[in-house]
Amino acid sequence: MEFEAVIGLEVHAQLKTRSKIFCGCSTAFGAPPNTHVCPVCLGMPGVLPVLNKKAVDFAIMTSIATNCTVARESRFARKNYFYPDLPKNFQISMYELPLSEHGWLEIETAAGKKRVGITRIHMEEDAGKLVHDEFAPVSRVDLNRTGTPLMEIVSEPDMRTPEEAGAYLRKLHAILRYLDVCDGNMEEGSFRCDANVSIRPRGQEAFGTRAELKNMNSFKNVEKALAFEIARQTAVIEDGGRVVQETRLWDANAMKTLPMRGKEEAHDYRYFPEPDLLPLVVFPQWEEELKARLPELPDARKARFTSQYGLSDYDAGVLTSERELADFFEAVMASCKGEPKQAANWVTGALMGLLNARGLSISESPVSALALAALLTLLDSGVISGKIAKTVFEEMAETGKAPDVIVKEKGLVQVSDASVIEKAVEEVLAENPAEVTGYRGGKTKLMGFFVGAVMKKTRGKANPGLVNELLKKRLDA
Ligand SMILES: [Zn+2]
Repeated sequence: MEFEAVIGLEVHAQLKTRSKIFCGCSTAFGAPPNTHVCPVCLGMPGVLPVLNKKAVDFAIMTSIATNCTVARESRFARKNYFYPDLPKNFQISMYELPLSEHGWLEIETAAGKKRVGITRIHMEEDAGKLVHDEFAPVSRVDLNRTGTPLMEIVSEPDMRTPEEAGAYLRKLHAILRYLDVCDGNMEEGSFRCDANVSIRPRGQEAFGTRAELKNMNSFKNVEKALAFEIARQTAVIEDGGRVVQETRLWDANAMKTLPMRGKEEAHDYRYFPEPDLLPLVVFPQWEEELKARLPELPDARKARFTSQYGLSDYDAGVLTSERELADFFEAVMASCKGEPKQAANWVTGALMGLLNARGLSISESPVSALALAALLTLLDSGVISGKIAKTVFEEMAETGKAPDVIVKEKGLVQVSDASVIEKAVEEVLAENPAEVTGYRGGKTKLMGFFVGAVMKKTRGKANPGLVNELLKKRLDA
């Protein structure tokens, strides 16, 4: 029997506000434990929450950008449970009336384009953090994170493969970063993903019993955990067993999921409307104002990159996958006269290669957009050859010097003086009589050999176009 997977994702994104959702405490990451706390977020008796408007702005912007319908009236609710990182013994979340519903995102995988539905987006507060290992065998609690504004984005169970789940997460992540409502840092937990996954015989309508996966702190880990879990559930069923509804933890070192606890149901939490907060009313005008302020989003920017710059779908997709990368490319284009395709190749090739090798983000790039534009201008105007440009780029990355300074210091200016190149051509032909005979006898592929030899003689500085032209003229004579 052939099985297919049914995957739904729940993303918790930390909203990039300066203060918490219901009090004025700072949301800054990395402060000493329990220094960003007050009676409200510590859950002292008698305190009252006050909603952070900026957090609502951010959640509405996300709703619009993901094609959700924003509710005119939504309501906060108490989710009741006990855990040592939750001082109030309840979390303020939303339940029956979420902020927005019925959205979708378009994803693209090797199998083509596809829409993934978004069930709902609601707002809630984060819990604190238990620190285990550092103080073993004692655990301690840090409440700095308590009350940090979160947005939970719940997808429909529309994904069928780990690859689709990865594409959905990357797209959602890019949108939040474009909107600048979440810093998207998965390692620090500001963008967290839980996955619901079940399998069913291909062609069957009804869903199988699902497991919820947690503890996956990178896109790759989400894909690996899903692939493992799909294989595990398939094996269970093929062995005549039954999949149990439960929450499982991904162990990235062991490369497997492990059972954590039986899955709780919504009614276990005894949700009820939060009596200390008024219903949240979003007038159309508020939504319209935010809509007008939205930046160009990844899909639109990608389409513009293909039409305005004539880039391939692939290049445009890579360049617009991150807002900062797209901004970098456009800054290069704004100050150089070169071909967009060439600039795109340099950004996605040499520059991204350098950043990956050093583990840097685009904002930490040792080569600025202006410096890269200057290099491309030198290349485009024929001052340096493509080969030399690579050398200059490496030097720029090492020393931070401007490209024209490096070219001058190292004497790398391209030789376009025909008499100098002709001399090198004559020498190469004189040194390789057998190849000359071969070429003239029809082995025209030897041209590459001659070009290489002339370039070597001129230490890579000869204008390659001119070298080709002069060689051809001389050999065909
Ligand atoms: Zn506080």
